[in-house]
Amino acid sequence: MENFDYHRPAKLADAEKIIAKQKEGVLMSGGMTLLPTMKQGLAAPSDVVDLSGLGNVGIKVMKTKVTIKAGTTHAEVAKSGDLKKAIPALAVLAGEIGDPHVRHKGTLGGSIANNDPAADYPAALMALDATIITNKRAIAADKFFKGLFETSLRRGEIVTAVDFPIPEKAGYAKFANPASRYAIVGVFVANHGKAVRVGVTGAGPGVFRQKAMERVLAKDFSADAVAGIATKVDDLNEDMHASAEYRAHLVGVMAKRALKAAK
Ligand SMILES: Cc1cc2nc3c(=O)[nH]c(=O)nc-3n(C[C@H](O)[C@H](O)[C@H](O)COP(=O)(O)OP(=O)(O)OC[C@H]3O[C@@H](n4cnc5c(N)ncnc54)[C@H](O)[C@@H]3O)c2cc1C
Repeated sequence: MENFDYHRPAKLADAEKIIAKQKEGVLMSGGMTLLPTMKQGLAAPSDVVDLSGLGNVGIKVMKTKVTIKAGTTHAEVAKSGDLKKAIPALAVLAGEIGDPHVRHKGTLGGSIANNDPAADYPAALMALDATIITNKRAIAADKFFKGLFETSLRRGEIVTAVDFPIPEKAGYAKFANPASRYAIVGVFVANHGKAVRVGVTGAGPGVFRQKAMERVLAKDFSADAVAGIATKVDDLNEDMHASAEYRAHLVGVMAKRALKAAK
């Protein structure tokens, strides 16, 4: 790891100033992805701006939406009693991320800003039609995720919270990598009454919506309804863990499991 200057501002305005000034600087939340990349020499920032000093943590359940602050750890999301009542599938998802160490340090903000193609949260944000709040603007999930480790965030833009509309029913199921627990395929289904959304992670180079499933589920929100709905193999990932064909098959299996688990 190369040398770097470390900053831990207590105010968002100070974090904004430092990251704007330090052109080779990076933001850090839980460090669960950033630090390993620095240790491996894949990143050598001049400055690290640690956002954990902002204390931007918390989950607020309102009548029609849940707001989760960006600094909230996966463990805090998983154990939130209020969230388990409002969107139980989101608490389940957070509880299946990585291992206890990763869950007690890794954050919602860091996970979505990193946008790993096998990360769990992007599937939930897409299916729940979430809105990402930054220090500059509000971005719809459909416009936020831009493929392989890419988002619509501009340099130095800070994710501060995520708004999750509360669905009528939602469920999540993932076929996890046995070592890292990242999703080989993860499917999040959400019935919003007026529409159904299906978010798929792990299968492609970035999170996507399975629109054919959304159409049939809008008429019949059940596991049987997606039987026989195929996922195109073309753009799916192929690696030592699974072929593109197997991932396409897993999208169907995980969708059925998520629908059976939906609450
Ligand atoms: C062994 C292991 C297993 C894992 N398994 C899983 C898994 O099963 N599922 C899963 O989803 N994830 C998994 N992860 C990743 C984990 O969830 C990380 O916590 C997450 O990817 C990054 O969150 P962080 O808070 O640690 O971010 P950091 O590592 O601090 O930052 C990640 C990136 O986001 C940027 N960033 C951080 N915070 C913000 C912000 N507020 N605004 C803008 N940019 C920001 C940073 O500059 C950096 O580029 C695993 C990680 C490890 C090490």
